[in-house]
Amino acid sequence: MKKHFPAILLLTLIVFSCGRKPADQKLVQFKGVAFGTYYSVSYYEGEAVDYQESIDSLFSVFNQSLSYYNPASLISQINRGEADQPDDFFRPVFIRAWEISAESGGAFDATVSPLVNAWGFGFKNKEEVTPALIDSLLEFVGFEKVYLADDRIVKLDDRVQFDFNAIAKGYAADVAGAFLESKGIEVYLVEIGGDLLARGVKPDGSHWRIGLELPAETMDSPQEWNYMVEIRDNGVATSGNYRRYFEENGQRYSHTIDPQTGYPVKHNLLSVSVFAPDAMSADAYATAFMVMGLDKALAFVEAREELDAYFISSNEEGEFTSLASSGLSLKSKSN
Ligand code: ADP
Ligand code: MG
Repeated sequence: MKKHFPAILLLTLIVFSCGRKPADQKLVQFKGVAFGTYYSVSYYEGEAVDYQESIDSLFSVFNQSLSYYNPASLISQINRGEADQPDDFFRPVFIRAWEISAESGGAFDATVSPLVNAWGFGFKNKEEVTPALIDSLLEFVGFEKVYLADDRIVKLDDRVQFDFNAIAKGYAADVAGAFLESKGIEVYLVEIGGDLLARGVKPDGSHWRIGLELPAETMDSPQEWNYMVEIRDNGVATSGNYRRYFEENGQRYSHTIDPQTGYPVKHNLLSVSVFAPDAMSADAYATAFMVMGLDKALAFVEAREELDAYFISSNEEGEFTSLASSGLSLKSKSN
């Protein structure tokens, strides 16, 4: 049986504006649409200046560089071989994608799009994918086939295509955060489609907090957050979703591709939320960890002081289980 489930956010965002605030700090909050999803911004500002228009224009300029779906964007031009000079959005994403690709042993690889397209969204084309097709596409997948020289993107194979979908959303949160900081704002939370960047301590001395879902018995069980985590100057991103996968012959497939094999990731890790110093890194590591699987990813996180993660897996009986890395302080809902 084959099923597709719509994306449901794993992270339930809870923004508490509790306690008394000093008179010179006012909470500003707004929501909007960007990158095919919803975003929300919260911050404390003396004059309660609303920066929504500025953030919307910033995201629109961002998309002119990094939108995979806009044929006129810089990334589309670079993919077609019509441009090779990165701009101020493309450059940092390319460099971080390169670093995380190397660190993760190729588990994260932003040149994976020919494979993503071959499988089709939701793996619609699955029946047409043959081992020969995968092999022919793997010839031009791999971040070792690209590099930056004299501020030019060099492709060792002209067919290499970039897809920053697993890193750009996090970077957009970082860019919005940097914009707010340029306006003197130090306490803020920017959330885009469940990935977020939170900085600073609120005027009442509390931290930004998010809710994490405890896996329910089945994917149809009601969604509820059960744990709370205080975010201290961190980016947080979630990849996969234990409610979003398709099943065939008792095997669950996620939408993440293993760049080494060219096939969708097939292990029992269904979702991972990563806590990192910035949202761009959290976003990319989340995808890398989905490829690595639970054991490798947990070892990777535990070896890094600056990283934490919350994993949801399924066991032999198909029941969901969760695991948090040792640095993550989960508070249960009832406390
Ligand atoms: P979400 O869309 O929920 O944020 P991800 O951050 O995991 O999920 O991004 C998924 C997208 O990342 C896919 O649609 C695909 O374009 C791309 N992708 C899939 N596998 C990889 C991979 N191994 N490395 C980098 N990008 C990937
Ligand atoms: Mg992501």
